[in-house]
Amino acid sequence: MDNYTKEVSILYVEDEKDVRECYARALQNVSQNIFTASNGEEGLELYKKNKPDIVISDMNGLEMTKTIKEIDENANVIFTTTNRESAYLLEAIKLHVEGYLLKPVEKKLLLKIVKKLSRTIILEKENKEQRDILQHIIDSENNITLITDTNDISFASKSFFSFFGASTIEEFKHKFPILIDIFSNSDDLINKDNIIKSMKNNIDFYEFINNIDESSRVVTLKNKDNEEKSLYINISKINNTNYLINFTDITKLTQEKEATELKVYKDSLTGINNREKFEEVLYYELKQSKRYNRSLSLAILDIDKFKDFNDKYGHLIGDEVLIMLSESIQSHTRESDLFARWGGEEFVLLFSNTNLQNAMKLAENFRQIIENLKHKSAGSVTVSFGLTEYKKGDTMKSMFKRADDALYEAKNSGRNCIRSIT
Ligand code: GH3
Ligand code: MG
Ligand code: MG
Repeated sequence: MDNYTKEVSILYVEDEKDVRECYARALQNVSQNIFTASNGEEGLELYKKNKPDIVISDMNGLEMTKTIKEIDENANVIFTTTNRESAYLLEAIKLHVEGYLLKPVEKKLLLKIVKKLSRTIILEKENKEQRDILQHIIDSENNITLITDTNDISFASKSFFSFFGASTIEEFKHKFPILIDIFSNSDDLINKDNIIKSMKNNIDFYEFINNIDESSRVVTLKNKDNEEKSLYINISKINNTNYLINFTDITKLTQEKEATELKVYKDSLTGINNREKFEEVLYYELKQSKRYNRSLSLAILDIDKFKDFNDKYGHLIGDEVLIMLSESIQSHTRESDLFARWGGEEFVLLFSNTNLQNAMKLAENFRQIIENLKHKSAGSVTVSFGLTEYKKGDTMKSMFKRADDALYEAKNSGRNCIRSIT
């Protein structure tokens, strides 16, 4: 753990004992945290052990300084020397030292330089401390979080890096030179195209997101394994240029929601659509037909004498026949049509954009398919059909009433046939 003391630590290397003691005392004006050494070897040992913030060394410490710079290229070193030869000076410059003072060093000047350096070091430490705190906060939620001016990223959470498979911001930038490239062109309202469009209209990213209803602030991002993930996005303004963007992975939630919807709309025995689904679609289709004056046909199917069939072969075989019949009709149903189990041994078919005449043909095809279906031990069943088509002013109820009446007629006409009422 870093030590965030407000005082810098100093290593002072000087072979002359008197000078060493005298200057060490003077340096106590800046810091109480001073280590002294009489030669480079001793100095290096102290450096390794204490990692001082500043190293002040005479030229005996040249080799030591080279090693220190190898350990930490940003180490702060000040040289003191009697030697005015440019070769020495060059060596020091090459090592990127912070200062080069000629002996006898003016105490005041040394203290001035050390104080100035100390202030910079302390500021840097405080800065680092604040960045560490911020990083810690960002990481604590396990969210994909970033601070950005929408161009450059100044901070990103661990989860951000692991999601995109980058270990640094530079690596991320290499993958996504433009930040909005992380968004795909999904069906979500927030997708790459819409972001670009809004930017062209001078709506910045923050405004764009916040103009969208909270419940729709969902985006699709591809993770490092190229898997599409659903994430909830939240953006807040830090100042005029910086935003905090937060993504919460809701993939699991979305999947669960879809699974629940599936359960709600599926018949548990046959796996086909249930009555709820059918009613929802019929309600919608009725509105469409009314609005666009489109035709729509409805059929009710009822297995003939199914009670007798159950009595003869047992309820389990009856169930198997219901499943077999459902699967067969479902597989022959057009994409635009809807087939559902209404309940018991009754089924419904909705033929969208189809008039009665054509619906009759389709129904006849289904009637034959069912007639020809054979259960391995119990043979086949037949079905009676009641049909009707949408007419002006129809409601769900009125359509069902006519189809039901037509079915009644089919039963009365000897079953295994189709009747319609307009
Ligand atoms: P109809 O030709 O007049 O329609 O005669 P039906 O026997 O089919 O008519 P009814 O309404 O009297 O009986 C329906 C039967 O359907 C009763 C019940 O045994 C059977 N049935 C309803 N739901 C299921 C089910 O989930 N599984 C099984 N195996 N049979 C069911
Ligand atoms: Mg019935
Ligand atoms: Mg029946």
